[in-house]
Amino acid sequence: MESIITAKFGGSSLAEAGQFEKVKNIIESDPNRRYVVPSAPGKRFSSDYKITDLLYLCHAHVQQGIPFNDVFDIIAARYKEIVACLILKHKELKELDIDSILNVIKKDIGSGASADYTASRGEYVNGIILAKLLGYEFVDASEIIFFNKHGVFDTVKTQAAVKEKLLCKERAVIPGFYGAMPDGSIKTFSRGGSDVTGAIIARCTSSTLYENWTDVSGFMMADPRIVSNPKPIDTITYRELRELSYMGATVLHEESVFPVREAGIPINIKNTNKPEDKGTLIFDDTNCSEKPSTITGIAGKKDFTVIAIEKHLMNIERGFCRKLLAILEQNEIHFECMPSGIDSVSLVVEDKSIASKLDDVIEEIKRQCKPDAIEVYPNMALIATVGRGMSRSKGIAATIFTSLAKEQINIRMINQGSSEINIIVGIETDDFEKAIRAIYSAFVN
Ligand code: ASP
Repeated sequence: MESIITAKFGGSSLAEAGQFEKVKNIIESDPNRRYVVPSAPGKRFSSDYKITDLLYLCHAHVQQGIPFNDVFDIIAARYKEIVACLILKHKELKELDIDSILNVIKKDIGSGASADYTASRGEYVNGIILAKLLGYEFVDASEIIFFNKHGVFDTVKTQAAVKEKLLCKERAVIPGFYGAMPDGSIKTFSRGGSDVTGAIIARCTSSTLYENWTDVSGFMMADPRIVSNPKPIDTITYRELRELSYMGATVLHEESVFPVREAGIPINIKNTNKPEDKGTLIFDDTNCSEKPSTITGIAGKKDFTVIAIEKHLMNIERGFCRKLLAILEQNEIHFECMPSGIDSVSLVVEDKSIASKLDDVIEEIKRQCKPDAIEVYPNMALIATVGRGMSRSKGIAATIFTSLAKEQINIRMINQGSSEINIIVGIETDDFEKAIRAIYSAFVN
């Protein structure tokens, strides 16, 4: 089967001329990298600005009637510097009239262009520069990525447009982050949305692989701000990824997983600054026979409240949980998990979701469910230990609990989903970092 790679490059991978050179080398080292999706220039150093943020700022200035020249000049200077540096080595860039491209954008913003149009220009200009550098065709995302009149991504129209306008090109650069509404106006995805464009292009071109190039070598087994030098994750399934990213391990935009997952296309997270690193391969495990390692990763989230409810003979009372959940629903509160015993059930809810409604909810539970006891535990954190190999190994729970006990950490709640790819423990927020380190070192020596 023909191999086609869609390669998306994030903002830090295209933040300055030197990064463009790295991207060029990466693309040229594998002829299968035929469709390339760039982000707008990101930060070069931690106090730097992202071009997209500056573009939004220009729009806000115009809205308030404040001159936006100074902000736009910073944007223009970044692009001009990139082009000026690249021209020294790549004469073909001389053909690019960056000044007039930027002037058109400045004029459009000044005459009241929408926030989405304005923000999308970061990717647009980067796409034009990158296409010229690579000698690839530039295909504007507004010609192949479509939204319906409600602003929802239109798969059918996009697929047809990709077939007509992209598949006939041997190689192309398609700017990320935006597409077009039915009336032709520009609409962006949510922030970080170039990942989504990459996934859509991979899907619609039937790519064999979706490469997502960023500034880290994929996922780590734990957050490096908590565990020093955590091991990288070589392979992870889509299901595991969902569990870990829900718990805060984010490298990819959430919506970018769906299009490729559905089509069975693996995603490889790679590091533009260390292309030799394997990165993390995300794949569907249904047809996979490899023997997975016991645990894949550990992630956690703070700021939960647990409402623990007890009632004698709860197990034979019909409709108890229905009443309980209806109370949450009426108050527009979602819950994270609901571990239960024979006569007890706990609701784990995010602080921000329940916040000011807590007292009313408790009163309502007392009134409708008539529990024997109801306790509220604030300041809870959840830690998920995730691994597709868990269901086939013995002693995983024992290892987790022993490691926490050794550190004198009190476990307030335990939840193991029936999918058996994760074990979640609830602990006091103050123990959060200590607990992650304890579990990590119990599994990784
Ligand atoms: N440039 C856009 C943002 O900063 C989209 C992206 O980088 O993926 O959100």
